[in-house]
Amino acid sequence: MKKTAIFPGSFDPFTVGHASIVERGLAMFDEIVIGIGVNEKKKALYPPHKRVEVIAALYADEPRVRVVAYDDLTIDLAERVGARFILRGLRSVKDFEYERDIAAINARLSGIETVLLITDPQHSSVSSSVVRELIHFGKDVSDFLPKKK
Ligand code: ADP
Repeated sequence: MKKTAIFPGSFDPFTVGHASIVERGLAMFDEIVIGIGVNEKKKALYPPHKRVEVIAALYADEPRVRVVAYDDLTIDLAERVGARFILRGLRSVKDFEYERDIAAINARLSGIETVLLITDPQHSSVSSSVVRELIHFGKDVSDFLPKKK
């Protein structure tokens, strides 16, 4: 049976930190579905379709990575794509507190297993919100955005 994991997030924008989690996830799973969570209430820098386009282009040559947008629960997306795992990154204790609660609820509701990867220290200070702030003030963010391999 194919081992599929969902990597859910806002990815606004997708950073080198996210790319590192995908790369490491590919060593553990047969397929990774990057799920772009659409939250109409959150003001986004890039519209969901643009995020799908940019991330899909990054992985155009990696058939084991798929990109989808979704606006319901992550466990419902998991069921749709046949994933039994959720992949997430852990940057800090703050991330841990949040992830622990979500992982417990998701496991309880659907039996899905959450796999938390400790961030590569090189990427632990990178976040989409910092990148958005830098873009807002016209700074060069190319070091924080992944390049196609
Ligand atoms: P969310 O809106 O759910 O926080 P993000 O797009 O910010 O979504 O993050 C998605 C996932 O990627 C989360 O598990 C987050 O911890 C992880 N992540 C974000 N930035 C990094 C990073 N720099 N290194 C590793 N993982 C990261």
